[in-house]
Amino acid sequence: MYRKEIIGNLKEYVKLLRELGYIAIPYPSTISQQNSKKTLEQEDSREALRIIAEEVAICKKCRLWEKRTNTVPGDGATNAKLVFVGEAPGQQEDLQGIPFVGRAGKLLEKLLSDIGLKREDVFICNVVKCRPPNNRDPQPDEISACEPILIKQLEIIKPLVICALGRHAAQTLLRDSTGINRLRGHFYNYHGIPLLPTLHPAAILRAANLLPDIESDFQLLKQKLMETQDG
Ligand code: URA
Ligand code: SF4
Repeated sequence: MYRKEIIGNLKEYVKLLRELGYIAIPYPSTISQQNSKKTLEQEDSREALRIIAEEVAICKKCRLWEKRTNTVPGDGATNAKLVFVGEAPGQQEDLQGIPFVGRAGKLLEKLLSDIGLKREDVFICNVVKCRPPNNRDPQPDEISACEPILIKQLEIIKPLVICALGRHAAQTLLRDSTGINRLRGHFYNYHGIPLLPTLHPAAILRAANLLPDIESDFQLLKQKLMETQDG
């Protein structure tokens, strides 16, 4: 009796929906619930990264603040599956406040396009967020002062894959003093995230014979992204 009533009501409901022009019963699907959860998470990440950028803008935790024009906190998709970590802002980056906008950045964009990605698809940042004077190497105390910011960014973005560009990024993240030529081309585990060290694009600009090495590392990134996304 009770069952019959329900079925009867449902039939009425379906009839009404047909009359209204529906061809399927509208109800919030799991997919749209998941999507709205994702959108919320994305908004949270965007906001969290914006707050970090504001903190960086006034940071004086190491001497690099003294000569900077702009801080360069990082740029790109806040839900990026792939994050690149470079060394430090150069002159152009310091002037514009955006990472990898100089010649090394152009090469990075070309390498990305070779594996079907655009700059906007990934997140790009550096180990230190202020330019070292005359592009000198960042010093260990500057790296230690700035590293907590990078760690927070990675915790927020939660990428599937990280690529460390050059010696400073690789050695800092991996706590490993092995040279970049030996580190590169293999994945390491960074708090559960696969991390691939590769050469710094600026090094390729100085030695074009190294281009095949970085190109093959980008193919490894592409493969790893496909594996992680499937799994
Ligand atoms: N080199 C880097 O390591 N980072 C930049 O942002 C630009 C050049
Ligand atoms: Fe702060 Fe990092 Fe800039 Fe140093 S390099 S002043 S720690 S933001």
